[in-house]
Amino acid sequence: MASRRVTRKWEVFAGRNRFWCDGRLMTAPHPGVFVLTLALICSTCALHFAFDCPFLAARVSPAVPVAGAALFLFTMSALLRTALSDPGIIPRAAAAEAAALEAGAGAGGGGGGGAGAGEAGRPPPRAREVLVRGRPVKLKYCFTCKMFRPPRASHCSLCDNCVDRFDHHCPWVGNCVGKRNYRYFYTFVVSLSFLAVFVFACAVAHLALEARGAGLGAALRASPASALVAAVCFLSVWSVLGLAGFHTYLASTDQTTNEDIKGSFSTRRGVSNPNPYSRGNACANCWHVLCGPLAPSLIDRGAAGGGRAERVAAAAAARHHHDRRRARPRRARPAAAPAARAARAARTHRAARAARRARRRGRALTPR
Ligand SMILES: [Zn+2]
Ligand SMILES: [Zn+2]
Repeated sequence: MASRRVTRKWEVFAGRNRFWCDGRLMTAPHPGVFVLTLALICSTCALHFAFDCPFLAARVSPAVPVAGAALFLFTMSALLRTALSDPGIIPRAAAAEAAALEAGAGAGGGGGGGAGAGEAGRPPPRAREVLVRGRPVKLKYCFTCKMFRPPRASHCSLCDNCVDRFDHHCPWVGNCVGKRNYRYFYTFVVSLSFLAVFVFACAVAHLALEARGAGLGAALRASPASALVAAVCFLSVWSVLGLAGFHTYLASTDQTTNEDIKGSFSTRRGVSNPNPYSRGNACANCWHVLCGPLAPSLIDRGAAGGGRAERVAAAAAARHHHDRRRARPRRARPAAAPAARAARAARTHRAARAARRARRRGRALTPR
């Protein structure tokens, strides 16, 4: 019996992202700068391990290479996790949903599309407003994805996808930074700061110990690689430390880079505009942003089969239900579109599960 494959969402709603290993890994369309980041970190650390570590292990402590290796592995794992995971891509509206929204009927059949919608020949309004913790938040219509973006989502022009809690598109990590990979990005930036300071200190210590009695010129001749490592770290450590500080500020105030650049929550003309997402104190914000529950991927990555896809769909439906309750609409039901999509995702997975059960029983599978 020919086995027929269930089409997965990332294959349909891919935007410009590239997917690898049957959708398990993904990157931005042009990961060239990401490869440069990998090469820079790996080559600098290779020089550190080849020239500084043996010398310092013998003269200072064998703990030096152990600490260096631990920091290097931690930094690389955070980088790869940021670069290869789903930042929180929101699937585009299906044709029927987009047509319903364009016709002004609103998706999900819930309550219509707001003032002015539904009249023949008149386009539906391109922005809606919801209340988040009592504060009005505008939902903009995405013409590419054909839906109203959830609060904090933005369309990445490079990846050509809407991303939930969009922070920025980072060419250095070769991916968008959003709701699902921000914590790994933050971990990467902070651990890279520690790694750069550590490697720089080791290179300087090596040169200083070599220079004792013999002079700096002799030390540079004895270990030119240490001088190169020290120079690379010295030039890069400032920007990395600055970035770590900036993202610590953002995490402690529960803001994104996008919101900070736009000044979304800054005081305008004497009118304060407080951040409705902030939990009131820095610790609670950091905990929520960096350690809170990880949102499930909505683009259905990974191999077909297994319980994971169903768990993801169920979690997505639950999350959207939760979001809909939190972001109470001022009029109509603007959260109906993502909720309808999540419900459809759940239906899709129920169908996929039923199909797998049928396949196990040896019956033919109806392709989607
Ligand atoms: Zn979009
Ligand atoms: Zn992007």
